[in-house]
Amino acid sequence: MSQGQIIEPDLKFIKAVKQAGGDTLKKCFQCATCSVVCNLSPAHKPFPRKEMIMAQWGQFDKLIKDPDLWLCYQCNDCTIYCPRGAKPGDVMAAIRAYVYEHYSFPSFMGKALASPKALPLLLLVPIIVIGVLMLSFTGGEFGFMSEEIKFSKFIPHGWIEGLFMGGNALIFLFAFMGLWKFWKGLQSMTPDQSGPGFVSSLIMTIKDIISHMNFAKCTANKPRFFAHALVFFGFIGAMITAGLAVLGLVLIGLESPIPLSHPIKWLGNASGIAGFAGLTILVFRRVKGHDQVGANGYPDWLFLVMLYLVFITGLLTQFIRLADIAALAYSVYFIHLVVVFFLLWYAPYLKFAHMFYRTLALVYARSIGRKAKD
Ligand code: SF4
Ligand code: SF4
Repeated sequence: MSQGQIIEPDLKFIKAVKQAGGDTLKKCFQCATCSVVCNLSPAHKPFPRKEMIMAQWGQFDKLIKDPDLWLCYQCNDCTIYCPRGAKPGDVMAAIRAYVYEHYSFPSFMGKALASPKALPLLLLVPIIVIGVLMLSFTGGEFGFMSEEIKFSKFIPHGWIEGLFMGGNALIFLFAFMGLWKFWKGLQSMTPDQSGPGFVSSLIMTIKDIISHMNFAKCTANKPRFFAHALVFFGFIGAMITAGLAVLGLVLIGLESPIPLSHPIKWLGNASGIAGFAGLTILVFRRVKGHDQVGANGYPDWLFLVMLYLVFITGLLTQFIRLADIAALAYSVYFIHLVVVFFLLWYAPYLKFAHMFYRTLALVYARSIGRKAKD
């Protein structure tokens, strides 16, 4: 007589997925329509039905090792066709959020960033750090506000660079520890196929990410392809701009503020406008078309709003400086620094982390011959 298998559901995991936007999970009656309509799901062992079953049964130990979770781009074609309103696209996104919360180091940070109650305290950290730096530099004297607006009179660029480099070094170390465990977890499953080596898989994955080709395959939510590309390239452009500006100002003594005619400014403004436009589309569609555009859980919104604030305050800082309204310009610049460092210092615990986890999972999936349907 065959032995039955006793399944121990992880109730904490089920609760967390429901809270993170996967509250419809239990509606699934496993008809598999979602796996059929998904334009990315491979024919062999398709997703997301199997992930819905694992999630319903609280099988988090299996889901954290499942690269298919990350082949899903949350287009929600499956959600549109699900006869039970189980929203598998949202459930997959909520499970991914739980994965990087699970691997976060130190673990209390993952929990804090997943909880709205911790937000005031988390915001207070960059406010205090930047506030103390500003006060120690200015000595609480704001006479410079009657002169030409120069943000280096508020906080020297070198200090910002120090915060940026020092904070990032620590954060990348913490992020690496979580990503390493994630990679080991993926490797612990025995694949039933084989694929190209690591380097080839990495190159193909980077091509997929840059081309956004998998977003383009979604049908229910086509504008997401364009919006995500604008945000993605806008963010990369903004990071390159920030690096070049600090290098120019600190190392080669570039004129401050950098003139509008300088190529660094062109790149910065083009990136800011691209990011702002992309995020406006994403937020607008979420608010207007709730069912078709993906999870609306707290982690999702926190990341979107913070990134949106980075682009908005970045553009406003420049416009208000040009309008020569000193008190407002310095205030908005202060807010800009707070949201930038919030995003950077908490990157491994925000939805930001999905960028790194997804990249690793896609490389691993390629290396075992698993990829989105062509
Ligand atoms: S999520 Fe919906 S479409 Fe998919 S198996 Fe469950 S009920 Fe069917
Ligand atoms: S959200 Fe899109 S990519 Fe993800 S499983 Fe559903 S149809 Fe497939």
